[in-house]
Amino acid sequence: MNRQEGRISADLRGKVAIVTGAGRGLGRAIAETLAAAGAKPACVDVDADGLAETVGNVEAVGGEAQAFPCDVTDAQRVGEVVEAVVTKWGSLHILVNNAGITRDSLVMRMKDDQWDSVIAINLRGTFLFTRAAARPMMKGRQGRIINIASVAGLMGNPGQANYSASKAGVIGLTRTVARELAARNITVNAIAPGFIATEMTAKLGDELLAEIRKQVPLGRLGKPQDIADAVLFLASDAADFITGHVLTVDGGLTA
Ligand code: NAP
Repeated sequence: MNRQEGRISADLRGKVAIVTGAGRGLGRAIAETLAAAGAKPACVDVDADGLAETVGNVEAVGGEAQAFPCDVTDAQRVGEVVEAVVTKWGSLHILVNNAGITRDSLVMRMKDDQWDSVIAINLRGTFLFTRAAARPMMKGRQGRIINIASVAGLMGNPGQANYSASKAGVIGLTRTVARELAARNITVNAIAPGFIATEMTAKLGDELLAEIRKQVPLGRLGKPQDIADAVLFLASDAADFITGHVLTVDGGLTA
C-alpha cells in the first residue's frame, strides 16, 4: 500500500491544502500524509507525470487530490491555481511551500543564472504562493502556512551561497508574515530539514553522503516521512499557538 500515514494522528478532515513541489520527494510525502489525515491536497509541480503519480497514490487509498501543473515563479499561474482550488473545494486552509531547487557552485564561480533560478523558485515562489493564499485564508479567518526552508539557511553551506540565501530569505519571510497574519488566525512557520534522502540529495554521491552521515548525531539521513510528520503537526490543531517558528528536523546536525 502506498498510503503515507503520519506517525502522529491528526484530524484534517474537511481541510483543503496546497502543496508545491508535490511531484516527488518531500512534497509527495507531505501531500500523501496530509491526505491520509483527511485533507484534500491540491498538488502543484512543473512535473505533470510526477503529479499524476502523487494524485494516483492518494486516490488509491480513498483520498481526494487534484494535480495543478504550475511553475511557482509564474505569478499569474499561481493566482489562477489558488482561485481554481477555492472554486473547486470552497476554501483554503493549509499552504505548504515546498518546491525548491539547488544549483550548487562556489561563489567565485557562480553564474548569474544559478543565483537567479534558485532565488526565483525557492524565495519568489514562496512569496507568490503566500501572497495569493493569504487572501482566501484571511477571508476564512484561519490558515496554516508551512514553508520548507533548510538548515543551509541557518548555518550556511560551502557551494550553496544561492541556496542558503534563498532559505535564509524564506525564514525571514516566515517570521514577518507570521506577524502580519497573526490577527487573522493564520499561523506561519518554517521547517528546516537537514539532509533527507530524496533525488535532491542523491545528486551528492555516495562518498559525500557517507561523510554527511558521520556528521549527523543520529547517524542517518532523514526520510521524507520525517518532514511530512513535522508538517502534519504544524498543520494540526495541536500547533494552534505556534507561529513564526523554525523547526529543525535534522537528526541533530545543528544541535
Ligand atoms: P526534489 O526531490 O528535487 O523535488 C522538488 C520538486 O519540486 C520536483 O518535483 C521539482 O520538479 C519541483 N519543482 C522544481 N522547480 C519547480 C517550480 N519552478 N515550480 C514548481 N515545482 C518545481 O527535492 P526535495 O528533496 O523533495 O526537496 C523539497 C524541498 O525541501 C525543497 O524546497 C528543498 O530545498 C527542501 N530541502 C530538502 C532537503 C533534502 O535533503 N532533500 C534538505 C533541506 C531542504 P522537477 O522534477 O521539474 O525538478
